[in-house]
Amino acid sequence: MRTEAELLNILQCIMPDEMSRPLIRGRGEGGGSRRLEASVADPGAPVVGILGTGDFSRSLARRLVASGYQVVVGSRTPKRSVALFPEEAEVTSQMEAASQADLVFVAVFPEHHSTLVELKPTLAGKTLVDVSNGLRINLDGPSNAEQLADLFPESSVVKGFNTISAWTLQMGPRDGSRQVFLCSDSSKAKSSVIQLCRRMGFIPVDMGLLSSSLEIENIPLYLFPSWRVPVLCTLSLFVFFYLYNFTRDVLQPYITAGKSVFYKMPIEIVNVTLPSVALVMFSLVYLPGLLAAFLQLWWGTKYSRFPNWLDGWLTRRKQFGLCSFLCAALHAVYSLCLPMRKSARYKLLNIAFKQVKTGVEDSWVDEEVWRMELYLSVGIMALGLLSLLAVTSLPSVANTVNWREFSFIQSSLGYCALFMATVHTLLFGWNRAFDPAQYRFHLPPTFVLVLIPALAVLLGRLALFVPCVAGRLRQIRRGWEKSRHIRFTLPEDGCRNGLEDVSHV
Ligand code: NAP
Repeated sequence: MRTEAELLNILQCIMPDEMSRPLIRGRGEGGGSRRLEASVADPGAPVVGILGTGDFSRSLARRLVASGYQVVVGSRTPKRSVALFPEEAEVTSQMEAASQADLVFVAVFPEHHSTLVELKPTLAGKTLVDVSNGLRINLDGPSNAEQLADLFPESSVVKGFNTISAWTLQMGPRDGSRQVFLCSDSSKAKSSVIQLCRRMGFIPVDMGLLSSSLEIENIPLYLFPSWRVPVLCTLSLFVFFYLYNFTRDVLQPYITAGKSVFYKMPIEIVNVTLPSVALVMFSLVYLPGLLAAFLQLWWGTKYSRFPNWLDGWLTRRKQFGLCSFLCAALHAVYSLCLPMRKSARYKLLNIAFKQVKTGVEDSWVDEEVWRMELYLSVGIMALGLLSLLAVTSLPSVANTVNWREFSFIQSSLGYCALFMATVHTLLFGWNRAFDPAQYRFHLPPTFVLVLIPALAVLLGRLALFVPCVAGRLRQIRRGWEKSRHIRFTLPEDGCRNGLEDVSHV
């Protein structure tokens, strides 16, 4: 038997430190060799300069060196920063870097761009890549890149790489975002940056002229812009239904009978609130599509613009659906946990004792059994379909299906899921909607409230299935317009040919 040390020795002979070698050596590592490990600098590739020696500059330098570029970094204090860069990169003064490089990344904050003006003659005719981001969303302009272009009118400014973090640059494009948005007024400068981008393993996205730079600079500053309304809507509905259920199920028994059931607050009340939010949110996924269809029928054209609120609502249907899915999934988990609670066990024991006391032997109620079986089965089906919709809304999955398949899943299966969820709620309510005792504090049970939008959407959809309505909508969506068609009437006096109202044709 060999010892562990012997085995290690053998392994080291077979793999002479291949595994422990870094992608790029840091300065001072590896016995002073200036050879690039990952890829050897291509003498034909442009010399890339970087102004600034901060986090972004360091990560960018590493990635550029790994992609085979010669890198020269310009610093106000090169001696202080030299140890932070790979030994293959040259760290020198800003002036020296600007004169050596063909393409220069400006990796300094935009408020310090003006300190670089003395490099103006040296940078004339060269490409400057502005990687800067703003502090807050700027909708009015000018952008940092446009200001840099004003400062350096003889250079070609390209905006880009600001959406890539220093971390992503360091880790390489396999982790994190791969897209790099680029724009410039000079197509030559832009294509050289596009080439560089590809060679670094990123995907360049051409955003056109430098006027798009404002939009590119705002991209990293947005905080889930398309999620704000759906999340706010979910939270507002949750608060509303929670307070509503709390008033009916906790406050009412406490005030009218002095019965304290506050223990219901963390689980039971949450568990009746979640499905209410889920069903309303799910109805809100399909409601804007119906409103749009009825507006088009009313207007008799598809060429009139929808109001902005409807436009915004239509584009956020996916987010509404995903919020609904989250609530439905949480409701399923809460429901599964209900029997685990001590309160549920005590209740069960109390009922059993009561039955023993009163001599009741069989508590089986056929109607209740059937209701519960159906209620659970339909609920599980609805959640299954909702999960399918959620999965197919992921871009990676949506990209693998064609438009017809996507609309079949999102529309046809979506309406099936809404139907199932509505039946699930109807089975839950059963005949309690007609029981006056359920109207505590004169408030109708929650299921009655949430059924209103769901049933309205389902009935609206049914109305669109009526052949004459469906036919007219199909015509409108193929470009037919009410105000443009020729109407024929029978001649009144036999003199006219019956052509009426052709002024719009
Ligand atoms: P940083 O760590 O603060 O580095 C900025 C560098 O600018 C300094 O190291 C400094 O280098 C140089 N500089 C030149 N003139 C300067 C002056 N007058 N005053 C102060 N510094 C001056 O910043 P960073 O994180 O690398 O960001 C640099 C740029 O990249 C910013 O515009 C930022 O918006 C953008 N960016 C950063 C990231 C990121 O993840 N960090 C991501 C996207 C975009 P010397 O002292 O050697 O001259």
